Amino acid sequence: MTKQEQKRVARTGQPLLKLHVLGAAGAVTGSLNLFEYIERDRVTRFLVDVGLTVEDERADFMNRLPVGIKPSDIDFIIISHAHIDHSGYLPKLVKDGFKGPAYLTPASSDLLQFMLPDSGFLQEEAVKRANARNRKNLPATEGGASDGVKARGNVPQRQPLYTQEHAKQSLQHLRTIPYNERRELAPNVAVTFTDAGHILGSAVVNLEIGSGSSKRTFCFSGNIGRYDMPLLSELESVRSADYVMVESTYGNKLHNRRDRFPVLADIINRAHVRALEKHPKFGCGVIMIPAFAVGRAQVIMHDLRQLMAEGRIPQMPVFIDSPMTIRSTEVHRKYRDAYNPLMRALFDAEVDPFTTPEQTLCHDWKESVALLEPQSKPIIIIGSSGMASGGRIVQHLQHRLPARQSTVVFVGYQGTGTLGQTLVGGLREGNPDARPTSVRISGKDVRVNAAIEFMPDYSAHADYGDTIRWLRGFQRRPRSIFLVHGDTDALEGLEGHIKNSLGWNVVVPKAKQEFVL
Ligand SMILES: [Zn+2]
Repeated sequence: MTKQEQKRVARTGQPLLKLHVLGAAGAVTGSLNLFEYIERDRVTRFLVDVGLTVEDERADFMNRLPVGIKPSDIDFIIISHAHIDHSGYLPKLVKDGFKGPAYLTPASSDLLQFMLPDSGFLQEEAVKRANARNRKNLPATEGGASDGVKARGNVPQRQPLYTQEHAKQSLQHLRTIPYNERRELAPNVAVTFTDAGHILGSAVVNLEIGSGSSKRTFCFSGNIGRYDMPLLSELESVRSADYVMVESTYGNKLHNRRDRFPVLADIINRAHVRALEKHPKFGCGVIMIPAFAVGRAQVIMHDLRQLMAEGRIPQMPVFIDSPMTIRSTEVHRKYRDAYNPLMRALFDAEVDPFTTPEQTLCHDWKESVALLEPQSKPIIIIGSSGMASGGRIVQHLQHRLPARQSTVVFVGYQGTGTLGQTLVGGLREGNPDARPTSVRISGKDVRVNAAIEFMPDYSAHADYGDTIRWLRGFQRRPRSIFLVHGDTDALEGLEGHIKNSLGWNVVVPKAKQEFVL
């Protein structure tokens, strides 16, 4: 908001509402939007989503707010859902002086209690590794201090974006608002969360800003789920908004809408047959499922339970080898109203949807290490991370990939440069032979004899068909729809689909672009 704009508001008495798109513009991560509302002599500034930029970690070390605006100038924050690319920048803002509340749903708040500290831990670990590499590789030079880098001796020492401790402090700022409860957050600024059906606690953020004839409504989709999402209740309709901002992750794609149960059953049954054969060193085979701890792991646990209950796969011991997944599952049990009717029926019948008959929770590192022993019968290990880029699952892979009795089942998108992507490679579904012969893990070459399976059926994002269906629920045409959170192809794809199907005015913001609403 410039001085001239403030003067104009004072002179004309006309309020002014500005939107700055500061992240996920032409990109998939780092969701960050600043709203500035000036009415007479009062300015209200708030952020909608405060996401980490996963594609480019340097970006978060720069000042991401418009020039002249400090974190302490922000009155409050709204977080659409717990995924780190929508929430993980909060500790950095708090560290840099943000003092206000951060509003989100109760389930999102419960998830962030462990997700933000984990993000701080990962920041610290990444920096430790980078500094160790620098000490080894760098010739003696004059170390200059820049953002995130402090000179120590003559080797630059990187500093983490924030630490576990900063993340824990930022949790003090969280304030919860349930779905469908209108809340006034500042004079003439109100929010209502509706269910986004993407992950537990995910919200579409519906804003009302201003009053009388100058009132504007703005609907921010955050991330929206598919209409046939497993477990969760359906993406809720929104009736109207002057402006809509929608994600475009799969703006140019349609999901394969087959029944996922027979696909998973086939994979597990094939893996079980392989696993029965005993290897002299490794014993029976192990089925390893790397799955993101929030959302994906719970769907897998649910599906395995159902397939075992129906006798479609053999009963096998299942080990949940991730403290994050264990904690996340506890949160998932707490919100029984968040699910579809099938899930609610299970809860009503006192069936725990996430527990298979022989399930072991590995809280402790030692319990995880014990799983490296030769196995006397086939077992399943579910671990995070979903792309096998860290955590205990990596040691299982390092140990078991050389054994042809074992199987790795990837159940989600594999990001560029991750171990998961290397293993999945150009793998065609159902062809376990199309895998690399070896991979590098922790600096060592590891032979790959295990079968690798990839099941892309579990996406938590709407495809363009879902998005158009959701947009059709708006009973009047918005003034504009902004497309964010997608790569170039996805943004172009969704722009075309919206123009063709709905004839709406589509805007694809560039990074840091601002709009008067
Ligand atoms: Zn998300």
